[in-house]
Amino acid sequence: MRERLSRTDAIIIRRGVLGEADRLLTILTPTGKRRVVARGARKITSRIAGHIELFNHVHLQLAEGRSLDIVTQSSIIDGFVRLRADLAGIGGAYYIAELIDRLSELDVDDPALFRVVRDALRAIDRGAAIGVTLRWYELHALERLGYRPELHHCVRCGVLLDERACQLDPGAGGMCCPACAMHVAGGLTLSLACFKVLRFLQAQPIDQALVPRVSAATGTEAERAMSLILQQLLSRDLASRAFLAEANRGPAGQPVADTREWRRGTDNGVHRHTSESW
Ligand SMILES: [Zn+2]
Repeated sequence: MRERLSRTDAIIIRRGVLGEADRLLTILTPTGKRRVVARGARKITSRIAGHIELFNHVHLQLAEGRSLDIVTQSSIIDGFVRLRADLAGIGGAYYIAELIDRLSELDVDDPALFRVVRDALRAIDRGAAIGVTLRWYELHALERLGYRPELHHCVRCGVLLDERACQLDPGAGGMCCPACAMHVAGGLTLSLACFKVLRFLQAQPIDQALVPRVSAATGTEAERAMSLILQQLLSRDLASRAFLAEANRGPAGQPVADTREWRRGTDNGVHRHTSESW
């Protein structure tokens, strides 16, 4: 019988072992998340093995299998080599992969979601501030998955929000107005700088989103806000979050600023010349 072949771009988001020498791969493709088998990929003679490292952006040829498709050819489009040079970069990439694996369903066609994941990995690989990149990624991945955080209208009553809105209602998935905030349990009060940063990141494509300088304090606040929203969607916390925290810890166990551009921020929000675009 003739093999039915297909070709696809893919990002390796999870790897497992299967049988004696095979690998079970979870891949994100422009037509959705899939599980495929790389036969013999754990043998040292395997040609495919080097191509299917975690986070790699690859081109795959797949043959239709009985239950899972099988990788028959592979080539690397981008191995994101630079992000692998430091623990913080690896932690960021691991978080990107784990979050999309946990949140996305199998076989949901969405080329834009694929681009969000690819662009976030690419940004970290090019040395962008990891914190800001991950917040951009969370906001845009959630949007593609149908969980867009509401930052412009009160998530409870729908009124248009102005700058006095400072209460995040994670259970409802967005910000709420001062009147509704009085009835929110488990909310988080955000600084104006953090509110603006989240709105900005949500509105911008990645190239513009990573331009502003964000202070370490605002970055930490934004991370907390997004993690509260995500916790509503995830039944348990992500393993990569602990890894990322460890990678960002100093030798004496003290938290240190992001070693990339994030730490250069000195103001309390985004840089002045970008604030006009809100
Ligand atoms: Zn309201």
